[in-house]
Parts: sequence; structure tokens; C-alpha cells
Amino acid sequence: MDFLVQQNRRIAGRWPEAAEGILATGKHVVVLGGGDTGSDCVGTALRQGARSVVSIELLERPPDERSSTTPWPQWPLLYRTSSSHEEGGHREFAMLTRGFAGSGGRVKSLHAVRIQFGERDASGRAAFAEIPGSAFEIPADLVLLAMGFTGPAPAALFEDLGVGLDERGNVAADSRTFAAREPGVFAAGDCRRGQSLVVWAIWEGREAARAVDFHLSHRERLR
Ligand SMILES: Cc1cc2nc3c(=O)[nH]c(=O)nc-3n(C[C@H](O)[C@H](O)[C@H](O)COP(=O)(O)OP(=O)(O)OC[C@H]3O[C@@H](n4cnc5c(N)ncnc54)[C@H](O)[C@@H]3O)c2cc1C
Repeated sequence: MDFLVQQNRRIAGRWPEAAEGILATGKHVVVLGGGDTGSDCVGTALRQGARSVVSIELLERPPDERSSTTPWPQWPLLYRTSSSHEEGGHREFAMLTRGFAGSGGRVKSLHAVRIQFGERDASGRAAFAEIPGSAFEIPADLVLLAMGFTGPAPAALFEDLGVGLDERGNVAADSRTFAAREPGVFAAGDCRRGQSLVVWAIWEGREAARAVDFHLSHRERLR
């Protein structure tokens, strides 16, 4: 996020010229995480003139067509190519990062190993094992961590407000009334449902506003 926010500020003319910040220009870039944030990092690094860009994903390459593990109406887990991926770079799947090497406090390479997933258990999870003899090293002058949303950052605010977290670390709040455990506290968007999309955040924000209004006025005023 540090990398992406800086670039947005540069483009908007809101980044001090003297401040170099994090730049991919001329560097071997490795992006850890093959999701949407990883894709944004790939595109941004390429546009900054990176020497090479490799995107590494722990999970296996998704299928090109809907698999039987995600039947309709479930969201199909498919191999997706974003406009950033079309711009270049190289994508690797089923790869586990083991460590980094460098000198003088600067990373120079990344050590990784290929992995193989076993059968899925009842919860849909599959254990993985390293493939013997598959360890390798790739050059890395800049490593961008895009490994996903792990719940809202722990905040004193949650403790002060007395809101509890659910088992995934998100604010525990009802999906219909958006009411958190502490009366008079409401939660909506990513902090409640976990990492998602802007459309969900907009919808939840509107619905939560309606719920707050009802809580305060005891009337259905907002449509
Ligand atoms: C890199 C990246 C790329 C994405 N790309 C897409 C995309 O292409 N399409 C898409 O639909 N979604 C995308 N998403 C997801 C989308 O950005 C989120 O789902 C959406 O922004 C969630 O909205 P929100 O209002 O719930 O939370 P946020 O947008 O995270 O807003 C929460 C706000 O609360 C503020 N805040 C935090 N603590 C406090 C506090 N104590 N007091 C006051 N304010 C506070 C934060 O500063 C922040 O402004 C992307 C996410 C990331 C990280």
C-alpha cells in the first residue's frame, strides 16, 4: 500500500519532488501475492520502468474454466488476466518464498521453492508440500508484499468502543442491521465483511446509514 499510495500521490502532483520514496525504476521487482493488489503493483512497477517484474502466488494457478469446486451460483475461481498483467511481467503460481538474501541492508534476491497441493479436506482447504529439489533464487531489488487483507488493523478504538471481532478478525456486526455487539455502534464495509469490492462498501455504507437513522429516530425515514 505504501508503494501504491505514493504513486497515486505522484500522479496527482501531491508528492514532494525531493522525496524519492519507493520506486521500481530499473529494478528487478518481485510482487508477493497474485490478487488484485498484486496486479496493481505489477502494473505500477512496469509503468515506473522496472527491469523485470515477477509475481509470485502461493496458491495453484486457477483453471481457465469454472471448476466443479465452484458450481453456479458460487463465485467461480478462474485464471484472470488484468490490464496490468497484459502490460508485461511474469506470473508464477504454487510457489513458496523461503527467504531473502542481500547486503548492506538491501535485498538482492529471493529464495523460493515450488509446492504441490494435496486433496482438499471437507472445509475445502488443502495442505501443501515442497517439491524436493525445486528450490531456486531470483534477483530482487524491490519486494512488494501484496498478500492480502488480514482484517482491520488492531486499534485501541475497537477496545474503547467495546466492539468484538469475529473469528476472521473483522468487526463482529450483523449483516442486516450492521449493529456491532456494543449497542449504538455500527460497522460496515471491509472492516465488517472482510476484504471486498467498492460496490459492497457503498451498499453496506448506505444500509448502515439507514440502520443508524432508525436507531436514533425509531422511524423508517431513509429509502
Ligand atoms: C490495492 C487495492 C486495490 C483494490 N482494487 C479494487 C478494485 O479495483 N475494485 C474494487 O471494487 N475494489 C478494490 N479494492 C477494494 C476496495 O478498495 C475496498 O473494498 C473498499 O475501499 C472498502 O471500503 P471501506 O469504506 O469499507 O473501507 P476503506 O476504503 O478502507 O475506508 C476506511 C476508511 O476509514 C479510515 N479510518 C480508519 N480508522 C479510522 C479511525 N479511527 N477514525 C476515522 N477514520 C478511520 C481509513 O483511513 C479509511 O479512509 C482494492 C483494495 C486495495 C487495497
